[in-house]
Amino acid sequence: MRALEAMHIEPTVFHMNEGHSAFLALERIRVLLENSPLTFDQARQYVMATNVFTTHTPVPAGIDTFSPDMMSKYFQNYYPSLKLDEEGFLALGREEVTNKKQGFSMAVLAIRLADSVNGVSELHGDVSRKMWHNLWPQVPPDEVPLKHITNGIHVRSWLAPDLVYVLDRYLSGKWQTDPTDQSVWEGVMQIPDEELWRCHERCRERLVGWTRSTLKDQLTRRGASFDDITTADEVLDPEALTIGFARRFASYKRGALLLRDVTRLQRLLEDTKRPIQFIFAGKAHPADHEGKELIKAIVNFARNPAVRRKVVFVENYDINIARSLVQGVDVWLNTPRRGMEASGTSGMKAAANGVLNCSILDGWWVEGYAPDLGWAIGRGESYADGNTQDQLESQALYDILEKQIIPLFYKRTVDNIPRDWIARMKMCMRKLAPVFNTNRMVHDYTEKFYIPADIRGRNLAADNLDRSIKLAKAKEMLRQRWGGIKIVGVHVAGNGHYRVGENMQVEALIDLPNVDPREVLVELYAGPITATGEIGAPKILRMDYTKQIAGARHVFSGQIECRTSGRQGFAVRVLPGEEDMATPFEPGLIAWN
Ligand SMILES: *Cc1c(COP(=O)(O)O)cnc(C)c1O
Repeated sequence: MRALEAMHIEPTVFHMNEGHSAFLALERIRVLLENSPLTFDQARQYVMATNVFTTHTPVPAGIDTFSPDMMSKYFQNYYPSLKLDEEGFLALGREEVTNKKQGFSMAVLAIRLADSVNGVSELHGDVSRKMWHNLWPQVPPDEVPLKHITNGIHVRSWLAPDLVYVLDRYLSGKWQTDPTDQSVWEGVMQIPDEELWRCHERCRERLVGWTRSTLKDQLTRRGASFDDITTADEVLDPEALTIGFARRFASYKRGALLLRDVTRLQRLLEDTKRPIQFIFAGKAHPADHEGKELIKAIVNFARNPAVRRKVVFVENYDINIARSLVQGVDVWLNTPRRGMEASGTSGMKAAANGVLNCSILDGWWVEGYAPDLGWAIGRGESYADGNTQDQLESQALYDILEKQIIPLFYKRTVDNIPRDWIARMKMCMRKLAPVFNTNRMVHDYTEKFYIPADIRGRNLAADNLDRSIKLAKAKEMLRQRWGGIKIVGVHVAGNGHYRVGENMQVEALIDLPNVDPREVLVELYAGPITATGEIGAPKILRMDYTKQIAGARHVFSGQIECRTSGRQGFAVRVLPGEEDMATPFEPGLIAWN
């Protein structure tokens, strides 16, 4: 924030990517409070409106949490400039506001200080709404105000130079500047199979050469003998089906899932007619013991003379290693525990290069997968028992390798070209490259977040933050009076039986002591009753204010169209009606009947 200020850069909207940057939200508030009569909450409304927060991981270890002592040590001089006391400050970072034992979570701070919050794939949005549900305990998980924008990659940067050359020949030049234009990618169909295949084979050959020299460096650094170092020249076969697996070895990524049934894996590796080989690359966090054990298991397995040439582990995974791998392998393998991979961008890098993904249906692959462009391990089931899950999913993976991937790769026409494989490569590039790229992603952020935040921010900022101040006051007032709001009666017209297409009339009697009926939003939450007795696929319908019947008691009415046969259920709820709020759920005030 201070660097931007020194450069006289005055952004209108701030995007906090992961919690690490969330102190910026505090600094923005501090700046507004300098020499100003505003309160923290009043300044906060405007700052929140113009902050966007993206959460990138459902793994708790990936989220910084600091002890209250540590926070006090570094921030106590800062509290007064925010017009907060220690308790008010520390509460901003606690999941449960009043639980003083809880640490200060950067993600909680960011969520509390941003009106636009998102996960990085559709499934991750879902997982995050459940994960952060505690911050809005009264709100149904599906309505927790946290959306998703699926990640993307910068296509041009990740493509093999050989492939760039081919695409330039057959696609309109727009593929580089506007890769979101689906029609441009149709040009992939014009690339002759032979040409695409030759291009891909060159990439694989280059990868094999690169891996050999990298292994040599690795062995030299480790002080291996001259004989051992020269064996590096013999690893891998430039023509064999090559499967890549490269990532941080966090345990949820299950880097060693493939080793679960060593006999079965060995059988695949020993097939000399249809050779396959694996290149692993990765790094574990120094404190992640389990992650390091996974790497050790792979390295040990690769020491076995029978497989040494076909399983290699490349150390120090970084962006250059990633680039070589996603350009040169045939299949990109990903085996996370479902729900833990927020997005997984390496698979997108592979896909753009025509490398076929074989992955658990997690992260982006839930959206990207189709049977004609890659493989799904499992069908997206969840298991209570991790061991059973690993067992079933590893077997599913061997099945896919044996019955689908290997036969398809080695199904060649007389000219030794795997035409069915190439058809999938083309489908994969055509369908995935236009969607899972940064152009589409930034466009989504702009449309869904940046522009609306900018507009709301301008409104709240006008006249010395006039509406921001009013909004803070309105929320405070509602917060104090909310406890008095009661839905005292709900009446349904008729005998409770309706034909499909008929409307069910509903009236609600609501006590609103000291609250103007215009300050609340009354809604019907209606839908068919599921087997478990819950309201499934709810529709949210606004109820209109009808009349006051006595003192603070008011009538609201609405109607539900019965769209399907069977039992229908509904609930009535009251939410703050203040139109300047980002969503009615943001303050966490809600009353149900
Ligand atoms: C792309 C990339 C990642 C992220 O990949 P995931 O699919 O999320 O595991 C991590 N590290 C490097 C070096 C990368 O290039």
